[in-house]
Amino acid sequence: MNRDPVIKLEAVDKRYGKNVVVDSMGLQVHGGECFVLVGHNGAGKTTVMKIMLGLTRPSAGQVQVLGEDPASHAFVGRRESLGYLPESASFYPHMTGRELLGYYARLKGVSRTEVARCLEQVGLQKAATGRLHTYSKGMRQRLGLAQAILGMPRLLFLDEPTTGLDPLLRRDFYQIIGDLRASGTTVVISSHALSEIEVQADRIAVVKHGRLVACGSLPDLGRQAGLPVRTRVAVAAGNATRIAGQLAAHTRIDRVNDRSVDLTCSEDNKMSVLRHIADLGDSVLDVSMTAPRLDEIYLHFMNGDGP
Ligand code: ATP
Repeated sequence: MNRDPVIKLEAVDKRYGKNVVVDSMGLQVHGGECFVLVGHNGAGKTTVMKIMLGLTRPSAGQVQVLGEDPASHAFVGRRESLGYLPESASFYPHMTGRELLGYYARLKGVSRTEVARCLEQVGLQKAATGRLHTYSKGMRQRLGLAQAILGMPRLLFLDEPTTGLDPLLRRDFYQIIGDLRASGTTVVISSHALSEIEVQADRIAVVKHGRLVACGSLPDLGRQAGLPVRTRVAVAAGNATRIAGQLAAHTRIDRVNDRSVDLTCSEDNKMSVLRHIADLGDSVLDVSMTAPRLDEIYLHFMNGDGP
């Protein structure tokens, strides 16, 4: 991953009348990463994306995308570097998939050969001559993605891209995103699907009432939230009490059973606790650690315990 920021927001506000929908937002997205925005309905995620796309101007603050203000005239020639799948993309029902992509290709000023490439990349080449009113939700969403990747954009913005897709289609969708990332595309996703997105994200920004309340990798967020890493140590029968006693000097013991000891540690002392467990020898049979999940982290920040 390239550590240079391809997107930079500094002290960005967006107000509609008296309503502050983005409040002093500062963040950076690095080249090649999958950066995910999560937050409640109306938190401002779509607005932040539209600011990054240059579709709406901030009321205050600085925005740079690929080194330029995306809403400036200077950026017009670089628009093909950006791809966008809006939250509820709707298409002309009587066009075929191929016609629609051809239309967008002309609008974007990209070669028509891109149409066939994008249809193939999203697996719609066979359905390309079907009219859009005959497409399923999954096909329409893949067509939306094909539209977004016309011209091989360097930055791809996906607003709640898997809403309404069944689990297999979601998996296929992320497979396509994975292929794009492997070719160097930076991906910014807004999502409410916390359990699926935590696997995809390099870093996650938690947005609450227009403010960035936390940002980082999943372990970083667990650390920022101060949430425990839960650990179960499976032990040989008759050893649990002795082992719990030895580990109690290093971490908090939650439960002792005949054959297991449950304990919690923090992200920061996780490795040191693991070393102490390893020192206990053959009476330890197994260790499993469960780091805080994104849904726990999300609830922590949404419940107002965050910064
Ligand atoms: P969701 O998860 O429901 O899609 P979101 O986090 O994407 O929500 P936004 O769509 O960015 O939230 O909206 C943030 C706030 O800004 C909402 O209160 C919304 O009503 C308001 N808003 C967005 N666009 C406009 C606009 N053009 N004029 C006035 N208010 C707007």
